[in-house]
Amino acid sequence: MAMNTGLSIKRLTKEFSDMQKKPSYMYYAEPVKGEMFEWHFTIRGPPGTDYEGGLYHGIILFPEKYPFKPPSVQFLTPNGRFETNTKICLTFTNFHPEYWQPAWTVRTILLGLISYMPVEEETLSIGSIMCTPAERKRLAKASQFWKCQTCKSIKELIADKMTEENKVNDDATPKEELPEFKLTKKVSRKPQEDSKISDGEETPDENDPLIQEEEKEETRLGVEKELEEIERNQKHLEEEKNQIFNNPAEIQLDEEKREYRDFIELQRQNATKKASRCFGFLFVLWIIIGISSMYYPELLKEIFELIL
Ligand SMILES: [Zn+2]
Repeated sequence: MAMNTGLSIKRLTKEFSDMQKKPSYMYYAEPVKGEMFEWHFTIRGPPGTDYEGGLYHGIILFPEKYPFKPPSVQFLTPNGRFETNTKICLTFTNFHPEYWQPAWTVRTILLGLISYMPVEEETLSIGSIMCTPAERKRLAKASQFWKCQTCKSIKELIADKMTEENKVNDDATPKEELPEFKLTKKVSRKPQEDSKISDGEETPDENDPLIQEEEKEETRLGVEKELEEIERNQKHLEEEKNQIFNNPAEIQLDEEKREYRDFIELQRQNATKKASRCFGFLFVLWIIIGISSMYYPELLKEIFELIL
């Protein structure tokens, strides 16, 4: 666990440093409360939309397992597009089941949020709200005077961090592919908790139907894979069995092999018998010569002479 936290802190530190090096005109985010796992962000409403001129502020909470688990996002500034003070989390679309990719960064998330703001949803996803264009425009104007309780006034913040000069960085950056995510409210069993901003790190809600569904799906896929593997193995075994029992050529070969093996075994046994007989004979001869030489040393001499 400690290693995981170390990894996520390292990653978040790098993301923050990258953002400082190449600040944008459109967005800014930084860790707050001296804590790496809670960031506050500010995005500009996309030009040419109802949100033009709007400054939208919110919170990104990172899980300990970031970037392997996605962060959650909540808007604080009323905007007419997303509910405020409601924890929403980035999730997958039906077309892209991979719902979170560790390669995505805070930058990707913010660019994704900006580009997703003007998208009119046919059926509202949870966390989205319906609003008239006039109301959205009114909120965009009002948002410039909104103040975060933790950060300084947003107007001051953008004057400092999201300057016109940063447009150079935005222009120099090639239009990268934005993640295809939707925003979905994180369904909690205690809805009243959604109205206040939670502090500290977030723990995944095990009662979250979304998470439960994801887990079920993962389990289902795992079991399916295992079944496929078992089926493959069974097929393989079946094929082997057929080869052994139903192939006359194989049986013929086996018989030949057996015969050959028996023949070799017989040869081996014969050789052993011969060798032991040989040794026995030599041993007896040795004893006879030994005893004879004790009683008849002359005889031994004669035998040697005879041989030599
Ligand atoms: Zn703030």
